[in-house]
Amino acid sequence: MSLDDLYREVILDHYRNPRHRGRLDHATGHAEGQNPLCGDEVSLDLVVEDGRVTEVAVTGQGCSISQASASMMADIVIGKTIEEIAEISRRFRAMMDLDEGDPGIDASRPGEALGDLEALQGVRRFPVRIKCANLPWATLQEALQGPA
Ligand code: ZN
Repeated sequence: MSLDDLYREVILDHYRNPRHRGRLDHATGHAEGQNPLCGDEVSLDLVVEDGRVTEVAVTGQGCSISQASASMMADIVIGKTIEEIAEISRRFRAMMDLDEGDPGIDASRPGEALGDLEALQGVRRFPVRIKCANLPWATLQEALQGPA
């Protein structure tokens, strides 16, 4: 199996079996994001306690890239501090080529420590889909800004 095939499997698995689906009635942060180019929607509830994200719930619809990215994001941010999430988000942006050559990140392996998210790195070859992959992260930033 090629690396591309492996990545495709990981993305499809998250798309078909999205992690942390649902809503939280006790959320401390909420945000909704849309990507009109593709028709993607992501709605995010989360709970932050003592500077740490303890719960995340996602609903949404759209293409496999946007929904798989949302599932992977929820998986990786639960239990992390705001600072750790900022670092993950920075690595994700570097992997997707969203920031011009971030000097703090090894350009040969920007997806390191991103877990399943590394499977999305092939998306950067398709600039129009980068917005799909980044939608959950942009929505997360907004949800972290404060109360619903
Ligand atoms: Zn999309």
